[in-house]
Amino acid sequence: MREDIITIDGPTSSGKNSVGFLLSQKLGYQYIDSGSIYRAGCIFIFRNKIDLNDVPSIVNIYQNLTIEIKTTDHQQKFFANNEDVTDVLHSPEVTQLVSPVSAIKEVRSAVKVIQKKLASQKTVMTGRDIGSEIFPDARFKFFLTASVEVRAQRRFKQLVTKHPSVKYEDVLNAMMERDKRDSEREASPMRVPEDALVIDNSNLTVEETVSKMLDYIHQAH
Ligand code: C5P
Repeated sequence: MREDIITIDGPTSSGKNSVGFLLSQKLGYQYIDSGSIYRAGCIFIFRNKIDLNDVPSIVNIYQNLTIEIKTTDHQQKFFANNEDVTDVLHSPEVTQLVSPVSAIKEVRSAVKVIQKKLASQKTVMTGRDIGSEIFPDARFKFFLTASVEVRAQRRFKQLVTKHPSVKYEDVLNAMMERDKRDSEREASPMRVPEDALVIDNSNLTVEETVSKMLDYIHQAH
């Protein structure tokens, strides 16, 4: 049993990042968003114009990827191969690549090595398969979810400030497609770990969600 690991899985825009970060700060743990590791590799795939069918080159990127996360009080800086890539992790180019790339089995194995290495201290880690595949022995596991409409609305609000022409329907459709791909892929699909506490936060704020989690953790001690 790993007492020092807390896993949070869930679909896109379920609030994992804000919730995971706040929870980690309350507990004095480090926070690792594993989606960012998958995303970081995609930056190099995009820059080097690697074809999605060229699996060996894609896998090679993840096998040689070094990740460093620097946390200050309010935010994190994410370094890939010694470069600060924080601002490009969520670019549309990367977002488009990340779902098919993360479905490649050998990519998942390479990322697992990175995840294990990063979690050498007390850690809150978010993702899709953290409680089920990466740290099945974690002491506390959560699965965060919210209705697809609520999640699309959250993403839409984030996007529209930067891209005023974006349409809610398009965001909703893209989200449903990504959910489907992440849940139906063969290599460790997104699923609810058997022993996870499921929290639907459609009507909860980040603070309320974290407070539910802290109650659960403290009750167990
Ligand atoms: O959480 P985020 O939206 O940044 O994740 C981007 C993509 O990375 C997801 O759509 C999913 O395909 C992939 N992912 C994954 N396993 C994880 C974390 C992310 O497959 N543990």
